[in-house]
Amino acid sequence: MTGSSPNLQTSFADRHIGTTPADQRTMLDAVGHESLDALVRAAIPESIQAAPATHSSIPAAVGETEALAELRAKAGRNTVRRAMIGLGYHGTHTPAVIQRNVLENPSWYTAYTPYQPEISQGRLEALINFQTMVADLTGMATAGASMLDEGTAVVEGMLLARRASKVKGDAFLVDADLLPQTRALLDHRARAVGIALREFDAVSGPSDDQLDGAFGVILQYPGGSGRIVDPSSTIERVHAGGGIAVVAADLLAMTLLAAPGDLGADVAVGTSQRFGVPLGFGGPHAGYLAVRAGLERQLPGRLVGVSFDADGQMAYRLSLQTREQHIRREKATSNICTAQVLLAVMASMYAVYHGPEGLRFIAERVARTASALAAVAQEAGLGLVHDAFFDTVTLRARDRAGALVDAAREAGYLLHLVDADTFQVSVDETTTPDDVTVLAAVFGAVDVTTPATEAAVRDATTRLPSALLRESEYLTHPVFSAHRSETRMMRYLKHLADKDYALDRGMIPLGSCTMKLNAATEMAAVTWPEFANVHPFAPRADVEGYLDMIDDLETWLAEVTGYDTVSLQPNAGSQGELAGLLAIRGYHLSNGDEGRTVCLIPSSAHGTNAASAVLAGMRVVVVACDENGNVDLDDLRARVAEHGDTLAALMVTYPSTHGVYEHDIREICDAVHDAGGQVYVDGANLNALLGHARFGDFGGDVSHLNLHKTFCIPHGGGGPGVGPVAAKSHLAPFLPGHPFAQDADRRTGSVTAVGARREAHGGGPVSAAPYGSPSILPITWTYVRMMGLEGLTRATEAAVLGANYIAARLREAFPVLYTGADGLVAHECILDLRPMRDATGITVDDVAKRLVDYGFHAPTMSFPVAGTLMVEPTESEDLAELDRFVDAMLAIRAEASAVERGEWPADDNPLVHAPHTASSVISGEWAHAYTREQAVYPLPGISTRKYWPPVRRIDQAYGDRNLVCACPPVEAFA
Ligand SMILES: *Cc1c(COP(=O)(O)O)cnc(C)c1O
Repeated sequence: MTGSSPNLQTSFADRHIGTTPADQRTMLDAVGHESLDALVRAAIPESIQAAPATHSSIPAAVGETEALAELRAKAGRNTVRRAMIGLGYHGTHTPAVIQRNVLENPSWYTAYTPYQPEISQGRLEALINFQTMVADLTGMATAGASMLDEGTAVVEGMLLARRASKVKGDAFLVDADLLPQTRALLDHRARAVGIALREFDAVSGPSDDQLDGAFGVILQYPGGSGRIVDPSSTIERVHAGGGIAVVAADLLAMTLLAAPGDLGADVAVGTSQRFGVPLGFGGPHAGYLAVRAGLERQLPGRLVGVSFDADGQMAYRLSLQTREQHIRREKATSNICTAQVLLAVMASMYAVYHGPEGLRFIAERVARTASALAAVAQEAGLGLVHDAFFDTVTLRARDRAGALVDAAREAGYLLHLVDADTFQVSVDETTTPDDVTVLAAVFGAVDVTTPATEAAVRDATTRLPSALLRESEYLTHPVFSAHRSETRMMRYLKHLADKDYALDRGMIPLGSCTMKLNAATEMAAVTWPEFANVHPFAPRADVEGYLDMIDDLETWLAEVTGYDTVSLQPNAGSQGELAGLLAIRGYHLSNGDEGRTVCLIPSSAHGTNAASAVLAGMRVVVVACDENGNVDLDDLRARVAEHGDTLAALMVTYPSTHGVYEHDIREICDAVHDAGGQVYVDGANLNALLGHARFGDFGGDVSHLNLHKTFCIPHGGGGPGVGPVAAKSHLAPFLPGHPFAQDADRRTGSVTAVGARREAHGGGPVSAAPYGSPSILPITWTYVRMMGLEGLTRATEAAVLGANYIAARLREAFPVLYTGADGLVAHECILDLRPMRDATGITVDDVAKRLVDYGFHAPTMSFPVAGTLMVEPTESEDLAELDRFVDAMLAIRAEASAVERGEWPADDNPLVHAPHTASSVISGEWAHAYTREQAVYPLPGISTRKYWPPVRRIDQAYGDRNLVCACPPVEAFA
């Protein structure tokens, strides 16, 4: 064949967008529009359509090779030194078998949050391993799997303490040796909800005055300075008054030290980063939160538990799941949604691979190395500030601390300068005797050789206080000893991945979640050492490449949203919401408007919206929606009038969570502005607008985006994410800052070429690290670089076409609940299954589970309207896959009709028994009203690409009544 084929893919955009021009022609005919342009112009209200950009900060698209070459150049501007700064971030060896089979494996990283447990057993098992690992190491009864980092986990611990405490006061006691970034985060978050922090020294403990009216305490164990203080007496005193004790504990140290649970703590929090998760300039890493018995129903976020399926087989599921769906609105206790599942899986597998002996061995070597390092430092004349420590040595060098830290950097090591006389060195798993030798020379110790250091490390006794040595066992479950060879580990990871449905099997048409392609080229740089092995508090000169990439992204995202400034710090959409609302609050306060605390939120909003408002110290007032799913303008005006000068903000999602472009959005924004309020536009649905309209142009003051939706960061089975907050310049001073931000100085009002203003972000932090989760930013950078503005604009069109095509083809079988102009939807559509349920008795649950038999992940179920499915195909699926989905839905509708006609009994049909496992159709007599083929091969072609769910429908209620959230004993699987 010669000549060009009409389907020749010439650019990355052609690879990313699943539908070809020919496919799109077919789809446009089905939808009834002349062209893509005509479709989008009809769908998006004219009043908000952006004029084509005449100049863009986003350079013209390049191919995959060129994009990676540019990124290489940026990576080359980072300098990787051995990070011995500590402060909650430590060097670690990611076992290669985990890097390749989890972090770099689409079966793990493209999976969705395990809301459909039947197709998520693999990641649920990995997460229950994580919970068991954390609960064991901290000595707690139950651990969740939802924390974004240590700093925010401490905040969650504080809020949990306030809820659970018998003390009704508003004071929280804070260890003076808390990690400095945790302290900054806690200050910001406590202030927003009216909590007063009282600092005390852990050695002397809080004074009686401080204890009075304190609902709880946080202790750092070991302390930020490395010192180890027994927390039990402080815990006892807090308990005596009825308060709750939270301990932030280092998981590796817990293999050797008495666990918080053994010392009486009620709550343990921290990070699992040093369990094989790269530093990544601050993230992503999984934080943790664990509680003693009796507090498990207070845990925020996701909790994996155990239940049984329809055949009585044990199965995993998210416990107490329904409470998360709407995060209890104004009664919300936490806004956590997207978490850090992929990283939690990595950390749990690190524990599975090393087992309790391996972890203990690593921890002992760390402790002995730290001890040997302290000895040579003392020989060199430095003073040891604390006698008892695990991995972090604090040294005194009168007036020379700065010079020594500089000399160490010259030698390739980053230490933490405390003040002119003091610095800290943290030892980790990667520290070798060679490193100790080099540092000894830097400190001025003479005649230290590596063989001598090797002997010193071998012979050193640790500096752990003998009274606090660990006696209780941990990681005794067989899973932590069964997979020690690499072969076993590789197969265990494959075994779990095979149970799950991820994007590598087929489409995941989840409305509001934008499960699009996560291209391999986008993922490539995440594990490059220049991005992976950088400490979040490394000096600015070492991170120029990172800052450059961050600068590009902030500029690009500001441009496409129509805002002036962007912060990449929030670790998820929910955290972006919180940051934006705190900025609004800060702005009002700066204007002397203390009373502006009311946040209007439409009834259709995502659950995180109201929860974030509560955490920002605002009062939620719900605005009604009309029968078309739009904000009821009359009700909005009434609420605005009612709350007058107490109005802080409106929080509105655009396009709405109903999947339509509201025509009145400008009027809505104007009404709020006229009353002195600010407009927060939830940008999670940006995939319906990118390149065609900008939040900042039609009235938004601030928005968050979800880079893990619109901008290709994979969902990872429920995280990581990045939720940048973008705002107009008047809010810039209140966006998240950070005490360790490397570029705080360069954000000083300079105007870049395209006018995106780099302004100082002066608010408190919302993440532990200055830039949140930077190691996954190369994904978004590469995406935008390879798409260019034109590709992004085309992607939006393809996404809108896909949703409208599905709506057009399914609307007769399932009414499309809400549409805008011309009967069009945006990038997703809500299928109303209630008429079918009323006619046939078949529920939305039955359809979701039956889709598994057809080889699909269910769409979003019963959000934002109960009894519906919300379908979002995204631009990445091709026409064949869209048709496969449509065919499955139509076939399921026909099955429901067969039930209605009485061809199958209401309680014995393939829908109510879905999903079907292999064993359910081959074992024993087949006594059903439908055939085995109808059960598992309901359409031609399924047999050639069959996905077999490992369990049948799971009993949700049983699991909530009988909460088991750690690895069940092996016999339970019998
Ligand atoms: C996904 C989503 C959020 C929350 O984002 P997370 O990253 O999960 O915290 C908020 N609002 C809407 C409309 C969303 O779809």
